[in-house]
Amino acid sequence: MENYDVVVLGAGPAGLEAALASTKNGASTLIVERESKPGGILKQCIHDGFGLIRFGERLTGPEYAEKYIKMVKENNIAITTSTFAIDVKKEDKGFVLHLVNNKKGVYEVKCKALILANGCRERTSRQVFIQGSRPAGIFTAGTAQYFVNIKGYMPCKKCVILGSGDIGLIMARRLTLEGAKVLGVYEAKPNPSGLTRNIVQCLEDYNIPLHLSKTITKIFGEDRVKAVEISSVDEKMNPIEGTEEIIECDGVILSVGLIPENEIAEKLGIKIDRSTKGPYVDQNFMTSLEGVFSCGNALHVNDLVDYVSESGKCAGESAAAYLSHNNNRELNTIVYSKDFLYAVPQQIDTKSKNKQLTMYFRVKDIKENATVEINYHEKTIFKKKYKHLRPPEMERVLLNLDDIKFFQGKSLEIKMQEG
Ligand SMILES: Cc1cc2nc3c(=O)[nH]c(=O)nc-3n(C[C@H](O)[C@H](O)[C@H](O)COP(=O)(O)OP(=O)(O)OC[C@H]3O[C@@H](n4cnc5c(N)ncnc54)[C@H](O)[C@@H]3O)c2cc1C
Repeated sequence: MENYDVVVLGAGPAGLEAALASTKNGASTLIVERESKPGGILKQCIHDGFGLIRFGERLTGPEYAEKYIKMVKENNIAITTSTFAIDVKKEDKGFVLHLVNNKKGVYEVKCKALILANGCRERTSRQVFIQGSRPAGIFTAGTAQYFVNIKGYMPCKKCVILGSGDIGLIMARRLTLEGAKVLGVYEAKPNPSGLTRNIVQCLEDYNIPLHLSKTITKIFGEDRVKAVEISSVDEKMNPIEGTEEIIECDGVILSVGLIPENEIAEKLGIKIDRSTKGPYVDQNFMTSLEGVFSCGNALHVNDLVDYVSESGKCAGESAAAYLSHNNNRELNTIVYSKDFLYAVPQQIDTKSKNKQLTMYFRVKDIKENATVEINYHEKTIFKKKYKHLRPPEMERVLLNLDDIKFFQGKSLEIKMQEG
């Protein structure tokens, strides 16, 4: 049976960086990727805007991925593509992975530490409960992006987009550039879900209307989408009777959210955070199960690839460090006030040598002139006034815990004051 110090699941930007970091820190590493080529979601993101923080350049998704693929090759890191990880079992001294591919069939690989970098998936039409039939012409934004950018197919000629997530906004522009008519983006919430820069560059620059507090209530068509019914919604997002309008179209593109892929983590009994839908981790990105690390979109949905790579690096370094010393963790929780949607990591290992904590958080609602304060046992370790805080924009804070004296069971607290 093949045996590695570290196995990384997923060859997206998180997994590639994690594998580089674990290899550079002396761990024999294998990357397992279910698709035929490494690069993850970046392969289909042909627009630019990637890598401004990490490389100081505006790269396209494939260019950003290529830089990492090259580094993985230069470092002779083992990678198996077209290989799906179907199961993982915990053993006394590590893990046994059940992998499947068309060369070896089902086979097993052993490792001492495992990094989950398997990204996220899109919410589908089944998960948004739209009435009507299910004709051809309904796509998630990522699938439409794959058809246009990778396969060279046009999924529709005249469409509406449901949801204002970033992929939907990017696809509104992409479909317009390819000659389709995008009739509008319909968002049930009173505020857009995507980044401001994408609202401006993908909708406003192309005169594509954004309709807030509106949703699709019915889809018409037998073989192919013929029309949709749009309704206004109240503050609880329930459709308001009498506001229905019918819009003729041949396509519906859904951009209604992403969910971290965590079937493997769940099978291992790893504790999942209901807010992020990813595992609970400490500052080393170690999950509730010792020896298993999580990073990138599998941990929480990121808007910038640079932060995905950053989390991969920390997970890779931590996995390599875990091999060389017996990890005996002592975990303190991180608690946050109701203003926050989530904060990652959710715990601090107070015995860890790593006293650098990179915290990512999102707010629940839009906040203006809000001060975020992070306290530990009556000591303020971070305080910053933010002009604007918006749920689609993830914030990142660097904390140095060197001077903190930890007490067992004492939580790190994040709170906010407005005005
Ligand atoms: C449409 C779109 C536009 C974006 N635009 C920008 C932008 O302009 N700028 C920016 O900075 N960021 C952008 N992002 C965000 C950024 O690209 C992503 O956050 C990042 O690529 C996620 O990386 P990841 O490695 O966590 O996941 P992915 O890239 O999704 O990689 C996960 C990999 O794991 C593999 N995998 C999953 N399960 C298994 C399994 N069981 N066995 C084997 N392999 C498995 C998958 O096949 C995949 O290759 C965009 C994202 C999207 C979707």
